[in-house]
Order: sequence, then C-alpha cells, then structure tokens
Amino acid sequence: MGLLPPVYVDESACEKCGTCYEKFSCPAIGRKPDGLAFIINDLCNGNGSCIQVCPKDAIKRPKREVAGK
Ligand code: SF4
Repeated sequence: MGLLPPVYVDESACEKCGTCYEKFSCPAIGRKPDGLAFIINDLCNGNGSCIQVCPKDAIKRPKREVAGK
C-alpha cells in the first residue's frame, strides 16, 4: 500500500463499462467475473488518478483518511 489509502469501487454505481480496467492501464484495477471493477488494495497507491476515468463516479476515496499518512 502507498502513502494514501486505496480507493474503492462503489458497486452500486459501477455499470461494468470497462473503461477503468480496459482503457486505463493501472495494475490495481481488476475485473470481477460479472464485469464489476474492483481495486487490488495492495497495488493501489491511492493517488486517485482513476477516479476521473470512471464516467459513473463509481471509483471513490474512502471517506475517512488518517491525517499524516
Ligand atoms: S469505469 Fe466506472 S462504471 Fe466503468 S467498469 Fe470502471 S468502475 Fe465500473
């Protein structure tokens, strides 16, 4: 894990469009068998660059971030 906490996929918002895991080549983004995206926490550096990639705003930062981490 990086300095920032990993982002996460809000599965109720993900529409399985594939933009994040097919077009945005981050190794921390995976595809579940049903097409939902998921984040591999150990590979996510938390920089959030993928957040802007999702057209449904389904990739989110955790609400609480620990200050100084
Ligand atoms: S880009 Fe967003 S809506 Fe599309 S698969 Fe990824 S998380 Fe789901």
